[in-house]
Amino acid sequence: SAPLPTDLAIANAATLRPLAEVAADLCVGPDHLEPYGRDVAKIDLAVLDEPSSRPPAKYVVVTAVTPTPLGEGKTTTSVGLAQALQRLGKRAVVALRQPSMGPTFGIKGGAAGGGYSQVVPMERLNLHLTGDFHAVTAAHNLLAAMLDNHLHHGNALGIDVRNITWRRVLDVNDRALRNIVIGLGARQDGVARETGFDITAASEVMVLLTLATSLRDLRERLGRIVVGYTTQGRSVTAEDLRAAGAMAAILADALKPNLLQTLEGGPAIIHCGPFGNIATGTSSVTADLIAMRGSDYAITEAGFGADMGAERFFDVKCRVSGLKPDVAVIVATVRALKTHSGRYAVSAGKPLPAGLLEERPEDVEAGLVNLRKHVEIVRRFGVLPVVAVNAFPTDHASEHEVIRRFCNRLGVRSAVTRHVAEGGAGALELAQVVMEAAHEPTSFEFLYPLDLPLEQKIEAVATQVYGADGIDVSPAAARALQDYEKLGYGGLPVVIAKTHLSISSDPTLRGAPRGWRMPVREVRAAVGAGYVYAICGDMRTMPGLSSSPNAERVDLDEDGAITGLS
Ligand code: ADP
Ligand code: MG
Repeated sequence: SAPLPTDLAIANAATLRPLAEVAADLCVGPDHLEPYGRDVAKIDLAVLDEPSSRPPAKYVVVTAVTPTPLGEGKTTTSVGLAQALQRLGKRAVVALRQPSMGPTFGIKGGAAGGGYSQVVPMERLNLHLTGDFHAVTAAHNLLAAMLDNHLHHGNALGIDVRNITWRRVLDVNDRALRNIVIGLGARQDGVARETGFDITAASEVMVLLTLATSLRDLRERLGRIVVGYTTQGRSVTAEDLRAAGAMAAILADALKPNLLQTLEGGPAIIHCGPFGNIATGTSSVTADLIAMRGSDYAITEAGFGADMGAERFFDVKCRVSGLKPDVAVIVATVRALKTHSGRYAVSAGKPLPAGLLEERPEDVEAGLVNLRKHVEIVRRFGVLPVVAVNAFPTDHASEHEVIRRFCNRLGVRSAVTRHVAEGGAGALELAQVVMEAAHEPTSFEFLYPLDLPLEQKIEAVATQVYGADGIDVSPAAARALQDYEKLGYGGLPVVIAKTHLSISSDPTLRGAPRGWRMPVREVRAAVGAGYVYAICGDMRTMPGLSSSPNAERVDLDEDGAITGLS
């Protein structure tokens, strides 16, 4: 078959529906739509107070097997599935994260789906959209400025300058800002200290925005942000610095989800973009609440594999929203399962090993342990798994067959899906099995109760989700955990910051590793967002650019057309 046009060419050729019609499909009337230009709008949260006669939607989360560094197609599958359900006469909406501009100009290019399963307008989506990321950046850095200003004007709160945890953020991959010294110069230029920048997607404010359920909740969570500690070990909050009110004012519009559309004219809600490694990696609760209210099927993506994104989706996001997922779609690819045989190494920016493109069903077979583990993870939460075999042009029928037969043996519904090459028409079988699964009874439950001590919650995720034999907590992490229990953070859920390239905390281990222990190097508290996170590996919170970043290929022509985004 002929190669597909580029994502950008397909997106540019699309005829967009008037956004008010798209909104009506989501039961959002013109009163609740705030246009940002012609093809993007914000949705007023007041819509959630409007009575609705519809039963709530079926709630579908899209997750994946442990991915290669290239990604296995959760975003494309989410969009393709929504398009297919719509073709079957259902109201379907997809709720996704907004891409970070760091990766857009870094290695990955655009992130609006791919081929004939994309969200449009894709340039708006991949660049500023409605400015929410800039608002997060501004609110985050206002707090940093007020903190340093407080130090400059005498430090009445007694903040320990060596125990400040709040850094600054920017939505640019810029390795040179990872570690910096501020306050150099004369006396009036501030207090000199070491600090650094993270990427905006790693800001606690970004996660907080995904979990806030109302303006009041947003304001309260901002107030609870801990920026550092006093010399006596008491926490210092954004409320103490009297910064939370101004931060809320900056973020008022950003709390409203953004409405765009799929290539086939269905509603796509794009909102927030927290990192999947150190943060939750999910889009917002408010977006999902709007989707659940106004559709038959609300489809949302959770970052990386089921060990990472889905676990946090269940244990953190669903705890806040009160929503119960019906189905988890596990995206599997031939290329990812082949790598889980342990016979191949894939790195971003390098050509794929030849064997990944050749007909090698025996390699797929050898990697199925990874898929089995992700199915078990989803089932552990009482949610029904469905496996979506995301077909690539280089796949072979025999390789798909191996996956389908395995799913049959596990008693899991599965479908091969061709939504990238064919749009919604290529995902009809997937849509059918998702509909079947969504109507079966489920028994959703969290992995752990919140009243378990923090260390036991971390251990529960490590042993019951990742398959570790246990955890090894460093002395520093153990002290911090004790401090957090004393400071009253013991009742928060946990997020484990680890590699996404393995179910274990070692990025080189493929398949479903056994016989390993998880090292907990460090723990940190995101009190405003509402979780404690354990650092179990080398985590980058400010990416760098490669020797040939994607930014070199992006341009603007004299007609205003943007090129090179993907
Ligand atoms: P994820 O959301 O899981 O990270 P994406 O949906 O962003 O994955 O897809 C990762 C990359 O793979 C994108 O560049 C996307 O266009 C490409 N891709 C995904 N599915 C297919 C497919 N079936 N055929 C070809 N390319 C695909
Ligand atoms: Mg994605």
